Amino acid sequence: KWPAYGEITGPLIMIGFGSIGCGTLPLIERHFKFDKSRMVVIDPSEKNRKILDDRNIRFIKEAVTKENCRELLGSLLQDVEGQPFVVNLSVDTSSLDLMRVSRKHGALYIDTVVEPWLGFYFDAKADNAARTNYALRETVRAEKRKHPGGPTAVSCCGANPGMVSWFVKKALINLASELALDFVEPAADDRESWARLMKKAGVKGIHIAERDTQRAKMPKPFGTFWNTWSVEGFIAEGLQPAELGWGTHEKWKPKNARRQKKGNKAAIFLEQPGGNTRVRSWCPTHGAQYGLLVTHNEAISIADFFTLRNKKGKLDYRPTCNYAYHPCNDALLSLDEMFGASGKAQPVQHVLEASEIVDGTDELGVLLYGHDKNAYWYGSHLSVKEACRLAPYQNATGLQVASAVLAGMVWALENPQSGIVETDEMDYRRCLEVQAPYLGPVEGYYTDWTPLEGRGALFAEDVDKSDPWQFRNILVR
Ligand code: NAD
Repeated sequence: KWPAYGEITGPLIMIGFGSIGCGTLPLIERHFKFDKSRMVVIDPSEKNRKILDDRNIRFIKEAVTKENCRELLGSLLQDVEGQPFVVNLSVDTSSLDLMRVSRKHGALYIDTVVEPWLGFYFDAKADNAARTNYALRETVRAEKRKHPGGPTAVSCCGANPGMVSWFVKKALINLASELALDFVEPAADDRESWARLMKKAGVKGIHIAERDTQRAKMPKPFGTFWNTWSVEGFIAEGLQPAELGWGTHEKWKPKNARRQKKGNKAAIFLEQPGGNTRVRSWCPTHGAQYGLLVTHNEAISIADFFTLRNKKGKLDYRPTCNYAYHPCNDALLSLDEMFGASGKAQPVQHVLEASEIVDGTDELGVLLYGHDKNAYWYGSHLSVKEACRLAPYQNATGLQVASAVLAGMVWALENPQSGIVETDEMDYRRCLEVQAPYLGPVEGYYTDWTPLEGRGALFAEDVDKSDPWQFRNILVR
């Protein structure tokens, strides 16, 4: 009874077969017609190989590297029948280089993050500006400007970055209707009209507000890092500088905030790791919460997408946008132990499988704040129980990501010559329609919570009472 979304006519190449790869495969099998005998998975680890062997899917046990990527991928992509599809779900591989090779051979391409080659994240010689997601994203934007059009390559299409950009548009439409604004819904890629609408709605900023309440059956042992998705990926981004899209309403910046020198300058970063930086935010089930200001591509792409400039190019409007991530309790404890050990990661790293989780929900949405209705959260509540019912090999976090990859693949097949795109530029209605069966309840909530709530009762605090939604009030200092 699952809908069929079309045919992948050439070989399907999956790079990386970790937690997200395992979860995405069954969705691909369920929704696309493709020749399994021409599918190839490349991963240096055989950890999940059995899933592929059971299906007779070819496996290449190798790490894709800067040195071998052209030859390795090229040999699988050239002179083949039909249009290949490269699905990149790995860590430690350059999204930009893999996208280039794929497009050169006429293949469709998708990834969930702008990932660099191994070594980038922990390069002590690079300055912090160079280790930001801003810098990584700019490389893909430059490639898009240099080589417009051509085979579609969807950049950063997971849950976040990815799905949350579709939620922002949907939330904005809901809010504009609630505020009874006179508006027409803009076309998907009409940045200026979207930005105008957001300004008109009075949105000062957006949190990607997430609370993961999935709890393991067993208590986490010492010396381990547990998470509900890639531990390697989370440690890497947690040790990048805290970073956020920087809005025009902000009146204050922390002393260690830095502006970028090149490009659109939509983001600033702090000279401190995002995994050890907290912000105040709000999610529907548990209300007010601390979230981590981990850097994410969407914090920059959303701020950039909704930027308005005047005719002379001067900045007129931009929302602040940041990730406010409350990971599962085990991951939070793991991070605390890691930072306590001067950033040295635990030797045992583990992604919790659904069978190891007793209960919990990944509540992932967008909080549009600062307007006449105060704040509006819109997003998905997916419980681990529901995720298990819907698809194999994944917990709730994984299914939010894998179903976004599915939606991005559908969009790419339906729009095969759109060049390099970010999810902000795609048709959010179509993508959410594809994803909807996998997201649990997707709902909107208005709240009267602000980051000034309950502050200063026992200890005086440096807050800006004139505007609750200043970053000054949001950042935990
Ligand atoms: P994971 O750590 O479970 O799996 C990553 C896989 O990549 C592993 O199997 C590993 O062996 C493989 N790998 C490592 N080096 C490789 C190389 N050189 N060539 C090929 N494969 C290699 O991670 P995951 O949870 O499956 O996440 C996969 C990617 O998706 C990560 O980049 C992560 O940041 C990203 N992600 C994005 C979102 C989102 O919402 N946008 C969410 C979760 C994960």
